[in-house]
Amino acid sequence: MENLWNKENVEQRYDLPFMDLLFQAQGVHREHFDPNQMQLSSLFSIKTGACPEDCKYCAQSGHFKTKLKKEKLLPFDFVLAQAKAAKAAGATRFCMGAAWRSPPKKDLPKVCEMIGAVKDLGLETCVTLGMLDVEATQALKDAGLDYYNHNLDTSPEYYKKIISTRTYQDRIDTLNRVHQAGIKTCCGGIVGMGESKDDRINFLLELSKLDTPPASIPINKLAPIEGTPLGETPPIDDFEIVRIIAVTRIMFPKSHVRLTAGRDTLSEAVQTLCFFAGANSIFFGEEGKLFASSNPESDQDHILFDKLGMTVEAVDVA
Ligand code: SF4
Repeated sequence: MENLWNKENVEQRYDLPFMDLLFQAQGVHREHFDPNQMQLSSLFSIKTGACPEDCKYCAQSGHFKTKLKKEKLLPFDFVLAQAKAAKAAGATRFCMGAAWRSPPKKDLPKVCEMIGAVKDLGLETCVTLGMLDVEATQALKDAGLDYYNHNLDTSPEYYKKIISTRTYQDRIDTLNRVHQAGIKTCCGGIVGMGESKDDRINFLLELSKLDTPPASIPINKLAPIEGTPLGETPPIDDFEIVRIIAVTRIMFPKSHVRLTAGRDTLSEAVQTLCFFAGANSIFFGEEGKLFASSNPESDQDHILFDKLGMTVEAVDVA
C-alpha cells in the first residue's frame, strides 16, 4: 500500500488549530467506525519483572530498582480465571504480557496453551512477549493468536536515549515477521518521555512505514515510576495527548487507536476529548495493569460510557 505520509503533511496536521484538528479527526473516525462504540481490552501480566531489557520507563526492567514484585510465568488455571473475570467485566480482548527479551523455548508452549484456552472463551487474544523469531511467530499463529503487541515506543532518534539493549530495527523486524505470519499487529508508543514534537511526528511516520498499518495503535502517556530513570519526568500537557491521538486517527483511519497507560491521570473530560479525537479502545479494569501503572477501574469506565451514551464494540471471534 502506498504510504501517503511525509514529514510535511504530518506536521501540517499536527500544527492545525486544536478545533480544526479535532473536527478533521472526528470526520475520519466517523467514516470508519461507530463514534459511540468503544473496544475494551484487558491486560494481564503473566510473567512480571526481571526483564533483561533496559527500557528507561519500565518498572519491569531488571536494570532498575522499583517496588514491583517479580513473578515467574503464572500457572495456566490462574491465567484462565483472570480471562474469565475480564470477560465477565465486559472485555472482548484479553492481552497477556510477559517481561521477556523473547519468549523462552520452555515457556512458549505454555503461552500457546493459554492462547487456545482464552480463545475458547470467545475472547480475542493478544500477547506481548518481546522479540520473535520465525519459529516462535509460527507457534503463536498455530495457537490461534489474533494480535501481537510490540511497540516502537518513540522516534528512531529518541529511542536511542530510552533503550540500549535492542535496536529499533529489531522491533521493526519482529513486527514485519508477525504481519507476514498472518497475525494482526498492535504497535504504538509512549508520549511524555521528554521527546520533542519532531520525535512524535517521526514515530508516527515510522508506524506508517511498516509493512501494514497496525490493527491497534496504543498511545501511552508516560506514567513515571519511582526507581526508573524516567521516574521524575514532569507530566506532558494533556492537550498534547489529545493532539497526537487526533493525528494518529487521521493517519491510520482503519486502526483501533487505544488510549492506554496513564489514562488514570486524565480527567473524564480529557478522556472524552481523546475519544472525540478518535481513540476507540481502552484497557480497563483492575487487572488492566500496564508497566505497573493503573487505569481507572472498570465500573468508573462503564459510568463514563453511560454518561456519553457509548456502548461496547462486539467481537466476532473465528
Ligand atoms: S517495556 Fe517490555 S521489554 Fe522493556 S523493560 Fe519493560 S517488559 Fe522489558
